[in-house]
Amino acid sequence: MAKKEFKAESKRLLDLMINSIYTHKEIFLRELISNSSDAIDKIYYKALTDDNLKFNKDDYYIKITPDKENRTLTVLDTGIGMTKEELEENLGTIAKSGSFDFKKMNQLKDGYDIIGQFGVGFYSAFMVADTITVMTRPLGSDEGYKWESKGAEGYTIESYDKEYVGTEIILKLKENTEDENYDEYLDEYKIQNIIKKYSDFVRYPIKMDVTKH
Ligand code: ADP
Ligand code: MG
Repeated sequence: MAKKEFKAESKRLLDLMINSIYTHKEIFLRELISNSSDAIDKIYYKALTDDNLKFNKDDYYIKITPDKENRTLTVLDTGIGMTKEELEENLGTIAKSGSFDFKKMNQLKDGYDIIGQFGVGFYSAFMVADTITVMTRPLGSDEGYKWESKGAEGYTIESYDKEYVGTEIILKLKENTEDENYDEYLDEYKIQNIIKKYSDFVRYPIKMDVTKH
């Protein structure tokens, strides 16, 4: 399968995230949840003007699934999904989103938490994951796609049979190092705390199956 290259600006942001020594890496979850919430918003707003589209509240949610055995963390949403073109455009050219400003980055002052303050977006997941897989199926289509990237070298896109409309993002967590314990992002209690801290205002349910003790 042909590997596609990221656009130059995206590469810079990507490198920054991959090699990040940022101490609040946990904000990656805020970014993914906010994208999921935006994706559900898009269906919600569409339903306001489209009589054929009913927005049944119970159908729209975000679900977090930690898998300790495989060391993956999955963020699923029942939002609008992405077409193949949108996948290329949105995940191949992140710097376009404009929420992250390199000029500001260069003016970074001591104690000024630019990553924390601004949305750094989807690529922030590369602070904690070495492979990211995105399975998505757009509203109104039977066709799904799988986007995958191990970081700076590029990404692949292939067809993927996805049962439901929406997006599922699977993070294969980095190996633990002496300084970093990525396993904490598989801990239900830790995940709940991160969500409470950064995503408390999200308008849609954020679900997670919890182990009974
Ligand atoms: P921003 O949210 O500021 O636009 P991001 O880097 O967070 O930047 O996301 C880039 C784009 O990728 C989004 O604008 C959106 O179009 C698309 N995207 C990311 N995650 C999802 C998702 N879960 N569902 C649908 N589209 C998504
Ligand atoms: Mg975003």
